[in-house]
Amino acid sequence: MTKLLIQKPLRVIQLIVISILFFSQSLISQEQTAITTAYVPVPYYPINLDSLTAQYRKEYNSSIKEYEGNYKDKTKEIYEGRFSRIKEQLANGDFYFNPIIDTYFQNILQEIIRGNPELNKHTLRLFVSRDEYPNAYCRGDGTLIFNLTLLRFLDNEDQIAFIIAHEIAHQTFDHVCTAINKRTEYIYSKETKKKLKEINKNPYNRYTNTVELYKEYIFDDRRHSRLHESDADDMGLTYIKNTKYNPLASVETLKILDTVDEQPEEASFNIKNVFDNPAFPFQDKWLKEKETIGFFMGSDDTEEKILVKDSLKTHPDCQKRIALVSEKLPPFDTAAARKIVFTDEFAKMYTYSEFEQVANFYYYNQTGKSLYTALCLLKKYPDDAWLYTQISRTLLELTEAQENHQLSQILEFPASYHAKPYKDFLTFIRKLRLREMALLNHHFTQKYQEKFPDYAPLEELAEEVRTVAVRLK
Ligand SMILES: [Zn+2]
Repeated sequence: MTKLLIQKPLRVIQLIVISILFFSQSLISQEQTAITTAYVPVPYYPINLDSLTAQYRKEYNSSIKEYEGNYKDKTKEIYEGRFSRIKEQLANGDFYFNPIIDTYFQNILQEIIRGNPELNKHTLRLFVSRDEYPNAYCRGDGTLIFNLTLLRFLDNEDQIAFIIAHEIAHQTFDHVCTAINKRTEYIYSKETKKKLKEINKNPYNRYTNTVELYKEYIFDDRRHSRLHESDADDMGLTYIKNTKYNPLASVETLKILDTVDEQPEEASFNIKNVFDNPAFPFQDKWLKEKETIGFFMGSDDTEEKILVKDSLKTHPDCQKRIALVSEKLPPFDTAAARKIVFTDEFAKMYTYSEFEQVANFYYYNQTGKSLYTALCLLKKYPDDAWLYTQISRTLLELTEAQENHQLSQILEFPASYHAKPYKDFLTFIRKLRLREMALLNHHFTQKYQEKFPDYAPLEELAEEVRTVAVRLK
């Protein structure tokens, strides 16, 4: 992954686009004031929630009506759960309906449908999500979700197109509903019930035997879901061949997905360099890991982490999937002759994905992660005033949380599964005493307020940070 990101030939072009994106506003007023560049987070874009929710309700009702299996009540429960989930996500503002981001992704979906008119018979909806994990998935009800943060791992629009085509294929094969139905049939079947009864009769090894019973099922289920992945790759590639996108991107995409768990190299920074200040010198003891910290460490294999590992890439099968997809590619010359669709638009979206990561962590009250990702971006965007403001804002919130003994609600404990730079960062923040955190922030904010004298949000915040620092001195 690291290599991929470094070798990106698009860095320069990206920078140009970013400049146009974020500098243009200030260029207008360039003559009067010094230039300040500052990212503007994508705001919530109001949509007609009621009509969309009603549409989902209607579709769920009819899919339950059409269900012909043996366990209608149980299936209804699951479908209801799925309906509640999307309703909640829509109401939470989890998706970007902002015209710039949404239109970009809808155009990709439309291009795939244009090339494959048979897709018109499906109700396909594509939502771009604020979710923190680099992932894309098919809900099984025609809704495809693409997490914006996945873009940070991609190089061009062709790769996005392949991922969307793959998810469309899951829908057209009806993989999700088939899996739900199969699971229900298994769990509630007479045979399973009988086996469970047998297990319960025996007072010994009840737990182990139950686990064994489900293991059998899960193993079988996994094997099938692997087959599903290759089918979806295959069909996805077929869709892509009918579009303007380059089919070669399929292999590239799978290679990237194979390493998506690894942290990009950019996800690190030198804590000391960022916060060292002649007025408030950095203390090396802040970086030293305490022996006792292990006691507070988070658990290693959170369910969340396992789920994520299992979702998009279904590791370790990516290599097999790559081999299978490669066989289906058109002759290299033909494929290579089609140009990779790299656009300024992609670069713009890529930049959004970087900055929105910071904004979204904040949006979901993950203050510590918001601070960390903002610090990581400083290296690439050292002149963005919003980043410094975000660092100051999150540090202020962490200070107040520490004062109220609520730090753990917005900042994780370092854990062994964390990548080293993030773990070091957590260790550092946890080491700061209340007074130190307040002063460190005060001196940091003051320094950058001088750098961006025209940026009002930082100026306002600096006053607040100063007040807290004086109070805690
Ligand atoms: Zn898949």
